[in-house]
Amino acid sequence: MAPSPDHAPLAERVEELLAAGGPLPIVAAGQPVLRRAAVPYDGQLGPALLARFVEALRLTMHAAPGVGLAAPQVGVELRIAVLEDPAPVPEEVAVVRGRVPQPFRVLVNPAYEPVGDARAAFFEGCLSVPGWQAVVARHAAVRLRGQDERGRTLDEEFSGWPARIVQHETDHLDGTLYLDRAELRSLSTNEAAAALWAQPAPRAAAEALGFDLP
Ligand code: ZN
Repeated sequence: MAPSPDHAPLAERVEELLAAGGPLPIVAAGQPVLRRAAVPYDGQLGPALLARFVEALRLTMHAAPGVGLAAPQVGVELRIAVLEDPAPVPEEVAVVRGRVPQPFRVLVNPAYEPVGDARAAFFEGCLSVPGWQAVVARHAAVRLRGQDERGRTLDEEFSGWPARIVQHETDHLDGTLYLDRAELRSLSTNEAAAALWAQPAPRAAAEALGFDLP
């Protein structure tokens, strides 16, 4: 299917973005595109361009490096995100945070709802807010619905770290940054987080910096 004429500007912009090759420039906080609700994906790019765009998102996420990337983070206002997490963390951290490896996947028009009342609070960061991390209390488990890159229905429950990633990336598509949901008193530079708050859970950080945990 060719891109529809209505959306030619969007397809053209993506073509331009991809023309340079290599990882795409990541848009940083302060740019309005990160604060707008993205448009549902409805074939605007056509299958061939969508495949190339998804591949560019994957490359860009790997190069950053990160475990998720949403289209608005490269300046494209479509409800598309990618994620992949090899989970290269110590066993103790993996267990406490539920950080299990997550294979590469594409989320198209995703939406989530909580499963149960449990919340989990951990430090997280964002490629669009480089240099910083903060603790965010999120749903411990979510049901994610949407499609994959081939239009197949996605309806799946996520828990642990993958649940955190899908909430973070889906939030991007609604113009929400993790800082909107964060305990701002936990805000730490990457250097401080690595030096002081690398424990599996943020209990010591909560006590020392003065914020609440769920
Ligand atoms: Zn982010």
